[in-house]
Amino acid sequence: MILDDYRGIADQGELRAIEHLAGALRGRRFIHVNSTATGGGVAELLQRMIPLMKSLGIDAKWKVMKGTKQFFEVTKRIHNSLQGREGPPTKKMWDIYESVNRRNAERLDLDADCVFIHDPQPALLVEKKKRGIWVWRCHIDISRPNRVTWYLLKDLVQQYDAAIFSVARFAQSLPLAQFMIPPSIDPLSEKNVDLTEEEVNAVFERFDIPMDKPVLLQVSRFDPFKDPLGVIDAFKLVRKYHPCRLVLAGGTATDDPEGARVLDEVREKAEGDPDIHILLLPPFSDREINALQRGATIVLQKSTREGFGLVVAEALWKKKPVIAGDVGGIPLQVIDGVTGYLVHSVEGTAFRVRQLLQNPHKARILGEAGREHIRRNFLITGHIRNYLALWRAMEDKDSDLIYV
Ligand code: UDP
Repeated sequence: MILDDYRGIADQGELRAIEHLAGALRGRRFIHVNSTATGGGVAELLQRMIPLMKSLGIDAKWKVMKGTKQFFEVTKRIHNSLQGREGPPTKKMWDIYESVNRRNAERLDLDADCVFIHDPQPALLVEKKKRGIWVWRCHIDISRPNRVTWYLLKDLVQQYDAAIFSVARFAQSLPLAQFMIPPSIDPLSEKNVDLTEEEVNAVFERFDIPMDKPVLLQVSRFDPFKDPLGVIDAFKLVRKYHPCRLVLAGGTATDDPEGARVLDEVREKAEGDPDIHILLLPPFSDREINALQRGATIVLQKSTREGFGLVVAEALWKKKPVIAGDVGGIPLQVIDGVTGYLVHSVEGTAFRVRQLLQNPHKARILGEAGREHIRRNFLITGHIRNYLALWRAMEDKDSDLIYV
């Protein structure tokens, strides 16, 4: 994967900016650290980003911290608590957090010109900082954190040179530079690359979804905050007036009791309805998700809480109008009436779906605007440009200009 692959997709100016920034940073060391090599958006992005940076001559490395089962239980608690869903970790839990981080600090070589530490799990590694720019890259919704947990973490974050949040509303009061850089999608990944009509049709056939009526689609984990039950209610309202199908696609939830419960509720509610298709997708179903998004008439993301909502960017990139909850990073992507519609209720969702089913021309205009919006603002190339610009800006902190 090289930058040239993105010519004709990303703006020429964006690619030139990357080349100039990378030229100024050639041979310099850039280390990213997170807590998992596979699974989750951060790993997915780093897998694509690191080779691209290397191809630009930057000595980019990705290191994964090692944790124990106990450690990941603690960090899950910290994660939920920062998203305002659980209480703070106990003293014993925090001790585990610290000791695993310190063990990793001994193991990992973090000597670099720029170090990005992703999310709370490895945040304590900053204690190892000797030189270079250290940046804490936060991917989660931290707008309403449990205060105790946040104060524990804040002590660590304050030792960084800068912090990055995905959405401005997630920013915190901190005595360091803060940047807003949203996540991105890679238009050349399996999840987003162009597919032929035959391939799309074959996936629908494989999942036994006839393409005889318009298809409404929501792809997401079976999580209460994604409101799949609300989606079914909205679908039932729409279907009183329009023949259509609903596809709810999400991953298996064997290790997540909450997910299994939601899935049971969804199945119960959908029972006996031949127009509702519930798909349990195994991990690495990227091409299938790609095809489902391409074959859908309208994409829904009726979340009641959301970090960024990558599925929204994925659908807009495929020129699908998106009707989505007005939460988290969704309004950055769905501009109401321009790239889709923002909704706040089951009735509002049904109303907008009916409107678009009646007006395919409008649906097409929204979809086209959606693709362009994603192309300009949420592609991996823009993401890399922002990271490199931040690095240069932090090195030239006292200057009003970034020299590339
Ligand atoms: N996804 C997937 N399989 C599934 C459900 C979702 O691969 O069964 C992908 C989806 O395409 C997107 C990501 O997982 O790339 C979900 O990211 P998002 O920000 O929408 O939601 P999150 O799950 O992080 O809350």
